[in-house]
Amino acid sequence: MKRVGFIGLGNMGLPMASNILKAGIEINAFDLSVYAMLKADELGMKTKNTASEVLENIDALITMLPNDMAVENIFLKENLLGEINKDIIVIESSTISPQVTKKVSKEAAKMDIAMLDAPVSGGVKGAELGTLTFIVGGNDEHLKKATPLFEIMGDKTFYAGPSGSGQVAKLCNNMLLAIHMCGTAETIAMGVNNGMDPAILSEIMKNSSGGNWSLEKYNPFPGVMDEVPASNNYSGGFLNSLMLKDLNLAEELATQSESNTPLGKLAKELYQELNNQGFENLDFSSIQKSYLD
Ligand code: NAD
Repeated sequence: MKRVGFIGLGNMGLPMASNILKAGIEINAFDLSVYAMLKADELGMKTKNTASEVLENIDALITMLPNDMAVENIFLKENLLGEINKDIIVIESSTISPQVTKKVSKEAAKMDIAMLDAPVSGGVKGAELGTLTFIVGGNDEHLKKATPLFEIMGDKTFYAGPSGSGQVAKLCNNMLLAIHMCGTAETIAMGVNNGMDPAILSEIMKNSSGGNWSLEKYNPFPGVMDEVPASNNYSGGFLNSLMLKDLNLAEELATQSESNTPLGKLAKELYQELNNQGFENLDFSSIQKSYLD
């Protein structure tokens, strides 16, 4: 692989593209933001003026965009699909709805274009360190073609099933993450209100049946763990605005599939409230604030 096209060089896309560049593969880059383009240029990527210019002489195209609308606009309304060379692999890594994913990849399949949905887990730190997890939907033959790139940007790749499955698995995971983060914050607050030291309580629960990822790796109570957003005024990490976006997508998925998800709905309401209070740019473990004020 000699050159990759990359569209969407934000918090995640820029470090992902940068790791590909460090592996000796050229990058054609495009983003609507002038700041992102300046950063890409500084890092040595070939910046382009339009999404279609990104397609020049590439072996793969990666998109890392904010939402459904951006993905639909680029691939369908602006008809990027119509300009894509059939030999390349398209890796759509944004977290979006499975419905839009399926709609776009169905159009791609009609044109004989290989397209995977490959949302990621691991956040900005994982993007920078090249330790992301890719959760892939689509044809498993196409997955083989994309594997060298996944290995540069991440350290785990899971094949979830046909097109859209990557997004379904990602949304299931993030709904569960929100639920156990809320549960963890709520429980620690109750302990503290009853005189417990949050660190001692966390240690007990971590080694008992209440143990979970939020307690073990990402304690939401300030000062309990070093090097987590809770001990740094909830800065960095995974923003409340993005968690809310994912919970809205999960709710949509639940409605369409007639799945009963009362805890998912409740977690969405709690994150909606936190965002309404102006905390959209804090890490999602700041849900702890809702239980302490
Ligand atoms: P971001 O907002 O930092 O970056 C998105 C970039 O896309 C921006 O630079 C924006 O200018 C650009 N963009 C938007 N529309 C465009 C268009 N039509 N053409 C070209 N560029 C366009 O977001 P991010 O944090 O990098 O997240 C990207 C995706 O990854 C989202 O879907 C998000 O849900 C998902 N994700 C984010 C994280 C995280 O921790 N930030 C973790 C996992 C998954």
